[in-house]
Amino acid sequence: MNRVEVLQNQTGKPTAASGPRPIVVLGACFLDYIGYVEGMPKPGETRHSKQFAKGFGGKGANQAVMAGRLGAGVRMVSVVGNDGDGQAYQAELAKNGVACDTVFAVNGAASGLALIFVDRNTAQNEIVICPNATDALTVEFLRSKTQNYKQFLHGCKILVCQNEIPLATTLDVIKAAHEQGVYTIFNTAPAPSAEDAARITPYLQHVSLFCPNETEASILTGLDVKDAASAFEAVKKLQSQGVADVVITLGSQGYVIGAKGSAPQHFNSVRVKAVDTTGAGDCFVGAMTCFLNKGKSLSDACKLANICASVSVQRKGTQSSYPYPNELPPELS
Ligand code: ADP
Repeated sequence: MNRVEVLQNQTGKPTAASGPRPIVVLGACFLDYIGYVEGMPKPGETRHSKQFAKGFGGKGANQAVMAGRLGAGVRMVSVVGNDGDGQAYQAELAKNGVACDTVFAVNGAASGLALIFVDRNTAQNEIVICPNATDALTVEFLRSKTQNYKQFLHGCKILVCQNEIPLATTLDVIKAAHEQGVYTIFNTAPAPSAEDAARITPYLQHVSLFCPNETEASILTGLDVKDAASAFEAVKKLQSQGVADVVITLGSQGYVIGAKGSAPQHFNSVRVKAVDTTGAGDCFVGAMTCFLNKGKSLSDACKLANICASVSVQRKGTQSSYPYPNELPPELS
């Protein structure tokens, strides 16, 4: 395991790598390798890229970085390879104020990668996700490495999970955390298969805040979620299955909040000229979690997260598009 002891985050505050953190993000750290081409290669064809970019991604890490960048106390729980990419990722998390002594580096596997080709002629992309070391994040591995989750659930107030690591681990940690009184947030991205959706349903009773986008909400509920009215129906269905609070993000149409005991409400997104919406959902979830931890109501936390996400969609890239406090209106910093 690689430890980064004390580093400076972007706000200039020193951040210790270990010790309890109120926000714990369990999920994937993927490196994005992006080759820009003019025309996609056909089967058997070799092409040269016109440009190359390497970026930090993975939904869990994106959310942790957004919350950490806003100054929240965040811990990442993940697995990387014991390779240069893994170490680079640990350093990047630490730079953003995220404790990463529970980002385990395993031997014999590369760090998780997203291989992305972007066709400069059409702007279309082709993506292959290679989870690699992330597949080692099994229930047995994580329980044995963290004293049955004590290492990260001690002092944890909010747990955030996505759907990019082995599902059994996500579900086991959500249940354990919820039973200990932790507020559990489940962002089921990327969209689960029908089979995985059936495995998730019995665990919804352990989810404090379910936060899907419209595609994921459709798969989990069997409804066609495409606007505010259909999202209201999905909120009701999810709550009847045991979820407490629900937030469904609707891209440029904003989001719907279904707080337990109140009628669902729709809120518009901020009107901006979007240039790249990659990672907008992760920006929203990370920022919302940060503001919930600061004691904001769910509706205020979402309102502020909406502003953060609107900044990110106006810039290219994923984590590189996420705002720093000094780029936000004063009420958010
Ligand atoms: P995902 O990336 O998971 O599909 P969404 O596309 O639903 O997530 O976007 C998440 C949030 O990002 C939205 O609720 C909104 O706050 C913001 N957002 C996304 N697209 C836009 C846009 N075109 N204009 C303004 N805000 C946007």
